[in-house]
Amino acid sequence: KGGLFRLWCLVERNTSQKVLGADGCGTPVNIIVGSHVWVEDSELAWIDGQVSKITGQEAEIESSNGKKMVVKLVKIYPKDMEAPAAGVDDMTKLSYLHEPGVLQNLKTRYELNEIYTYTGNILIAINPFQRLPHLYDGHMMQQYKGAPFGELNPHVFAVADVAYRAMINEGKSNSILVSGESGAGKTETTKMLMRYLAFLGGRAATEGRTVEQQVLESNPVLEAFGNAKTVRNNNSRQDDIKLQGRISGAAIRTYLLERSRVCQVSDPERNYHCFYLLCAAPQEEIEKYKLANPKSFHYLNQSRCYELVGVSDAHDYLATRRAMDIVGISAKEQEAIFRVVAAILHLGNIEFSKGSEVDSSVPKDDKAKFHLKMTSELLMCDPDALEDALCKRVMITPEEVIKRSLDPQSAAISRDGLAKTVYSRLFDWLVDKINVSIGQDATSKSLIGVLDIYGFESFKTNSFEQFCINFTNEKLQQHFNQHVFKMEQEEYTKEQIDWSYIEFVDNQDVLDLIEKKPGGIVALLDEACMFPKSTHETFANKLYQTFKTHKRFIKPKLSRTDFTIAHYAGEVQYQSDQFLDKNKDYVVPEHQDLLGVSKCPFVAGLFPPLPEETAKSSKFSSIGSRFKLQLQSLMETLNSTEPHYVRCVKPNNFLKPAVFENVNIMQQLRCGGVLEAIRISCAGYPTRKPFFEFINRFGLLAPEVLEGNYDEKVACTKILEKKGLKGFQIGKTKVFLRAGQMAELDARRTEWR
Ligand code: ADP
Repeated sequence: KGGLFRLWCLVERNTSQKVLGADGCGTPVNIIVGSHVWVEDSELAWIDGQVSKITGQEAEIESSNGKKMVVKLVKIYPKDMEAPAAGVDDMTKLSYLHEPGVLQNLKTRYELNEIYTYTGNILIAINPFQRLPHLYDGHMMQQYKGAPFGELNPHVFAVADVAYRAMINEGKSNSILVSGESGAGKTETTKMLMRYLAFLGGRAATEGRTVEQQVLESNPVLEAFGNAKTVRNNNSRQDDIKLQGRISGAAIRTYLLERSRVCQVSDPERNYHCFYLLCAAPQEEIEKYKLANPKSFHYLNQSRCYELVGVSDAHDYLATRRAMDIVGISAKEQEAIFRVVAAILHLGNIEFSKGSEVDSSVPKDDKAKFHLKMTSELLMCDPDALEDALCKRVMITPEEVIKRSLDPQSAAISRDGLAKTVYSRLFDWLVDKINVSIGQDATSKSLIGVLDIYGFESFKTNSFEQFCINFTNEKLQQHFNQHVFKMEQEEYTKEQIDWSYIEFVDNQDVLDLIEKKPGGIVALLDEACMFPKSTHETFANKLYQTFKTHKRFIKPKLSRTDFTIAHYAGEVQYQSDQFLDKNKDYVVPEHQDLLGVSKCPFVAGLFPPLPEETAKSSKFSSIGSRFKLQLQSLMETLNSTEPHYVRCVKPNNFLKPAVFENVNIMQQLRCGGVLEAIRISCAGYPTRKPFFEFINRFGLLAPEVLEGNYDEKVACTKILEKKGLKGFQIGKTKVFLRAGQMAELDARRTEWR
């Protein structure tokens, strides 16, 4: 693999100067005294100014906020002094396609409440943090219906409309990928998309409900069971659950559950919402399930946080029940679901003390016995069998089958294992149920999938969940790059210009590092999980040895168990200590045997009998590997659709309107692949100008051409040739310029004046 662009990107990454080169692609630009330019600024990301002096390879610049600075020429970016005051609705219309230009354009538009901007066919949506009702009303929907893409202001409706028309007219499946960090506006955007699709009227109601309503109303169910209050997110929504997506007929979010949370919560976080909701259920249910204040349950009282500001658990309980009705979860199933939730709370309260035999354990006291009895009643299994499953292990030797007792500590671990298994099976059941009940339309072959994806994550501590999320994002990034690249080529084909294939930087090497079989991180983690003696130290060491020379893998200096991956969006340091535990989807056979024969068909259904060979050969099933397979199938689905991208951006962390934080936004554009898309377009012909615009701007450089009464196309060629430019192309309706050429022409124009 080679190519200019690749080379340039490598250079750029090595110097960790994460900006596009001058005029987008590293081509030196004619900067002269008096030029208006952009330079990097630690606070504002970019600041504009004017060149006052040039000495050798450096220029002196007076910035617009009155600072004087000396900057290397290669780090100076030309500012388009003719950019329209209201910005441009598509970044590809910018004369100078570079980071500061992109940022400035978004800012200008955001100030005018224009929250949407295209970059080719990517829609950037900046959260307004204020209601803009006119933007989504019926009149607006009517306007976008059938309007050619790009004719009206950028909008989510326009994206939905294109997708819808492609589906109806060409029978093509389409997908809309909505991404962004927590609070960036993914849920709102998805809602608007669904509302518009419902408006177009395509997808009929089942049981009197539109798909849109079903999708929106299924949200509380997944939220109740998949979300918790965490330190990172006070409003308790959408954090901590890790998404991996699956496309269905409508919109869907699916989750990779953080299982350990079920029995382990630290202050000031909360367990999954459903536990608190159930404790706030109507009295009748509280009595039926023998529930009490959350403070009396071990799984909840490890943290002192019980209530959330502005949230009524009692209200949310009823809302969740209603949502369950709507997505078609029957009354019987609902009863079983909450029975299981209650059982988990009781299970957590079974404490153990030493039994009469050596290293054995028994329920500690009457209280523990009561909770054991309650658990068995709720799960509809035999109480003695439950006690055995918690306190004993079956050992099979060639001679005989013996039951070995567990000490109290091991019994508690066994109990927590059971709680995690039951909860995650319950959660998987819910996700499946919702996926099946909404949007599956057997009669139509094509679909519009709306996929809501959690963005790239890098926190102070990053565990297995972040690893899976970032892996997903790497996959989607690759898909995105390939798609953007394809679109570029299509534009060139449409304009009938020649262009040779240029290799762009791809992230295949990161993907190999993670998922290559054998030898990738996921595979090594599985290996570690299968060796009884491995620890996170041995796992980390194995990684260090294996990837010693891998470009994307770094061993942090100050840690013996952390590892760092250089993701496309930046470096992330992972803490390996819980990777092994979190990767194991190990169901203790005693637990499987116990619940597989529950008298409650719902519970027994969560524990279907294992196929003969798996039961024998390996008790271990890996969450990481399963995740990888799910991702693979997601990518296959995506590849069979025409994708559309919506990148949601959170303009500030105060969640306030009209605050536009440059540095923060730049980082999100980078992580969301927007800048990567721009890079790809830079590799070819980043600037396109319709003939008449080009002549208006540069005609004065060749007055004789203007007088010559030439055809537009010929006139453009003549102007370009006169100025000695090479490598540009003339399409059917536009001039295609190489990176840097626009700036060169502008500089000539300034000289000329
Ligand atoms: P995410 O799903 O990405 O975490 P949300 O969609 O829940 O984010 O958005 C967070 C908040 O931002 C919303 O509750 C809403 O107040 C506001 N918001 C997001 N998008 C819009 C929009 N298009 N118009 C008005 N407010 C919005």
